[in-house]
Amino acid sequence: MAISRLPPPARALLELVLDSDESAGRLAERLGRSQQSLSSAVYRTVERLRQEYVVAHVLPSTSPSCWGCISSLGAFVRGELRARRQAEVIGHLRGCTDCRARLGAALEADGELPHPRRLVGRGERRSDGK
Ligand SMILES: [Zn+2]
Repeated sequence: MAISRLPPPARALLELVLDSDESAGRLAERLGRSQQSLSSAVYRTVERLRQEYVVAHVLPSTSPSCWGCISSLGAFVRGELRARRQAEVIGHLRGCTDCRARLGAALEADGELPHPRRLVGRGERRSDGK
């Protein structure tokens, strides 16, 4: 499961929020943080979970040269990689047919997920009157 791939602190936060029946404000107060900081942390954790979900759908590799690319494919297909890391992944994909196949699987898995940029796209279409 993708949640088991999260670092323990992120997993603990997500489980706490999901199990809690307190309001977001009360939960934030109990954790000693602002509601906005809690909300941002939850947003980042959910995005990380989506990236791990994508990576979980990609075949593993026995080749160490592919490991870095594979672990970054979730962030790559979701547009969350920094420019330098993105350039490294693209460089690897150019020379590795196995990872290009993995990219296809990653894109397919990402297609099942909500995507902030797609929501923006929908809004743009709506303003065209369609
Ligand atoms: Zn590769």
